[in-house]
Amino acid sequence: MASTPRFLVRKAAILGAGVMGAQIAAHLANANVPVVLFDLPAKEGDPNGIVNKALEGLKKLEPSPLTTKDRVAYIDAANYDRDLAQLAGCDLVIEAIAERMDWKRDLYAKVGPHLAPGAIVASNTSGLSINALAEALPAAVRPRFCGIHFFNPPRYMHLVELIAQKDTDPKLLDQLETFVVTTLGKGVVRAKDTPNFIANRVGIFSVLATMAHTEAYGLSFDVVDALTGPAIGRAKSATYRTCDVVGLDTMAHVIKTMQDTLSDDPWHALYATPPVLAALIAQGALGQKTKAGFFRKVGKDIQVLDPVARDYRKADGVVDPSVAELLALKNPGEKFARLRAHPHPHAQFLWAIFRDLFHYAAFHLAAIADNARDVDLALRWGFGWAMGPFEIWQAAGWKEIAGWVAEDIAAGKALANVPLPAWVTQGPAATGVHTPQGAYSASGNSFGARSALPVYRRQYFPDPVLGEKWPAGTTILETPAVRMWHLGNDIAIVSFKSKANTIGEDVLDGILASIERAERECAGLVLWQTKEPFSLGANLASLEPALAAGRWDVIEAVVAKFQQTSQRLKYSLIPTVAAVRGMALGGSCEFIMHCDRTVAALESYIGLVEVGVGLLPGGGGCKEFAVRAPQEVARGAAGGQADQFPFLRTYFQTIATARVAKSASEAKEIGYLRPSDVVVFNPHELLHVAQVEARALADAGYRPPVAARNVPVAGRTGIATLEMLLVNMRDGGYISPYDFEIGLRVARVLCGGEVDAGSQVDEKWLLDLERAEFMALLHNAKTQERIAHTLKTGKPLRN
Ligand code: NAD
Repeated sequence: MASTPRFLVRKAAILGAGVMGAQIAAHLANANVPVVLFDLPAKEGDPNGIVNKALEGLKKLEPSPLTTKDRVAYIDAANYDRDLAQLAGCDLVIEAIAERMDWKRDLYAKVGPHLAPGAIVASNTSGLSINALAEALPAAVRPRFCGIHFFNPPRYMHLVELIAQKDTDPKLLDQLETFVVTTLGKGVVRAKDTPNFIANRVGIFSVLATMAHTEAYGLSFDVVDALTGPAIGRAKSATYRTCDVVGLDTMAHVIKTMQDTLSDDPWHALYATPPVLAALIAQGALGQKTKAGFFRKVGKDIQVLDPVARDYRKADGVVDPSVAELLALKNPGEKFARLRAHPHPHAQFLWAIFRDLFHYAAFHLAAIADNARDVDLALRWGFGWAMGPFEIWQAAGWKEIAGWVAEDIAAGKALANVPLPAWVTQGPAATGVHTPQGAYSASGNSFGARSALPVYRRQYFPDPVLGEKWPAGTTILETPAVRMWHLGNDIAIVSFKSKANTIGEDVLDGILASIERAERECAGLVLWQTKEPFSLGANLASLEPALAAGRWDVIEAVVAKFQQTSQRLKYSLIPTVAAVRGMALGGSCEFIMHCDRTVAALESYIGLVEVGVGLLPGGGGCKEFAVRAPQEVARGAAGGQADQFPFLRTYFQTIATARVAKSASEAKEIGYLRPSDVVVFNPHELLHVAQVEARALADAGYRPPVAARNVPVAGRTGIATLEMLLVNMRDGGYISPYDFEIGLRVARVLCGGEVDAGSQVDEKWLLDLERAEFMALLHNAKTQERIAHTLKTGKPLRN
């Protein structure tokens, strides 16, 4: 029995159907949690007008907040005038109305009496005081109230900050954390109740410091973006384009909160809206949403604002080559030493923004976070940084950096003249904050291990911070291409070692050898990669020499081995489970289709994309769809339809358009995944769930399915009908004449070839057909052009 009873969320309520509220509701719906979404009653028309409009908006937003469009059915529209009684049925209430203390407090007073007795109530405020908000709730509700800070867009951003106030019941926060981690799949960081919490406090400071130094060093915005993006381990949108995406008015709002609430902060002078930002807002240039901000797009050109000329010019910012060379250095200590010593303004600018970031994070650590790990993870998960501030500092040499920062502070170069806190140079953290004992807590002057909450036992490989290493398990078998290993139980794990986990003949050999071994020694086998993607598919480059030499026999043997590997995954004497996250394309999708079970992280992008390179799925993918269509009919899917053709048509269109599912849930809808496959929201829990699934199949006395022998196929009639579809697509200009030819070959395999409709074939027949059509395509010069083009450019060619 768990020490803390599980928090049951039968239904949730979201108060506020704006940008965040609607998207949080969508994500709860993604997770099968029914939601009542509230907003103010509309002034005219349907009283739920505001919410209904928000629900329509959810269906149009890209990238989609919904994993499948029909998820909106989980969300009921409501308004405060008529529907407050519905709160009585809601176990979790998340408030996400406009960022105004007075409006939020008014609303709390209004909803307070209607809340269910055991409900958890939380505010998604970006930075208002959780203690002050709590005061507006009835005293009995306060122990169940906290902050729950999602990041935009909530489906995709991993971070959620949880913030307790003085009355919050710690047990309840643990329960909420468990729910947020597993059910919603998020990375939780506990923040203290200080303005803007952790990620925005440090992240927005970093933006402001970058803006201040942009001006001081006389740099243009496009150059600063070139300096502060992937070159230093941050998002491609870097600094100014990120501001454009967020909205310059929103930025100004967050900065204003800092100005209003942080009057004692030594950096207070910096918390003023920078003049250039204010000028843009005054002109109505709010960034992407108004099509102009620091940048704008004119035709195909990206232009950048020149604040002196007060006009836009072509954006072409590049990093000075001598500085780019330093940024490419592998040794972070050397990189920082040389940046600091380099006189070029690009180098001096970079040193300055890091110096001030380190200074700020160290100074505020005690007040804003329990420990340095929480700060680092918050910036990584909330802002997409590859490393958090303390990690960057420590990796570069804690003492040296501390000395240089102190020197600059003394010389008046830093943005605030307060000294570094004493703990930086004296005491247990004088050589760094990340240690084998855990991360440094400045408020406790001690090192803290990771949370002991039981939910984290499901994460065998959590996101490590600097210096953290997880036991790599025990190797059972290792080849240059795969590693077969275990975690101390009898479920084997197979991981590929190739680049982007592509599948060449060596990987096929590795999988075959692993299955062989697992059958004799293990209870089950899981395909799991240590890093995303799951796999970009077959390694086409490895086929190039044989292709150039016209060794068709060699290539056909590899294709046959691909099919054999898929068949082994399906028919081995042990359960096989694919544990998928990220991209799973082409040949790897075929493996997924053949494993007994797939456990897929929500953010899995699965698809048969072979048509893009002028091929068809030749590793059993077409065959498997041909086998599944009549099975779907037998299963009674689609209302007991007696005809397999509707299924075939969907599968055909999926392959012919190289469709990639935009979530694991959509992969189920398309048919890449089966109803029995499992969707996991937290990618860090994937391996755990996959192991549990393999174990359960094994414990139930697993036997492989019987070989599919009497598969009824659609034959000539089916091919003719699918050809009509292709004719329409070609004549409508949707596909090229060569796409037509590829499509026709796909149709032939899916329909079992030129046989009478209803003929029964076996899997070997279908596999032979699939391989023959695959080879026929490979012989075609147009396919060879497509392959060469993709290998060279990474992009598909439509010839
Ligand atoms: P928004 O402006 O898109 O939506 C606010 C909603 O509040 C609207 O639907 C509006 O009808 C409703 N509202 C306005 N006044 C109200 C009142 N007096 N009583 C009841 N409802 C009222 O705002 P948003 O961006 O979704 O932000 C909502 C909350 O989430 C804020 O606290 C914000 O700080 C926080 N937040 C925003 C982001 C972000 O990137 N936008 C990220 C994290 C947290």
